[in-house]
Amino acid sequence: MKFPASFQSIWNNKSIVGAWVGVSENKYKLKGTCDNCDGAGFIYTFVAYSGPFRDRPPETHEVLHYINNAWWIGESYTDICPVCKGMIKEGERAKVLKDVVKQQIFALEDKLKTNTTTKDIE
Ligand SMILES: [Zn+2]
Repeated sequence: MKFPASFQSIWNNKSIVGAWVGVSENKYKLKGTCDNCDGAGFIYTFVAYSGPFRDRPPETHEVLHYINNAWWIGESYTDICPVCKGMIKEGERAKVLKDVVKQQIFALEDKLKTNTTTKDIE
């Protein structure tokens, strides 16, 4: 998978404890479109600033995700797919962005190391 260039500076932030990338769910796959983003036109990354936690943290303005059997607190970012440059109809793109929370999430194994031992909420 090719990532948007803007993600590098996000991932280089020393305070992040984990990072994942995702693309849209298959229902958004547009026939004959990009294999890199599954036709969504954009790539998504979630970066965790704290975690992993065994129990769900209290509601926060930050983004919570349950990944690898643990809770993580962080932020989500999206950017245009570098392969197809987001070649998708505007209406479709808006639908995809609305569903960003339901995206599949993949670990970025060799880019960033993640701590998989859960701990209590600080
Ligand atoms: Zn693409």
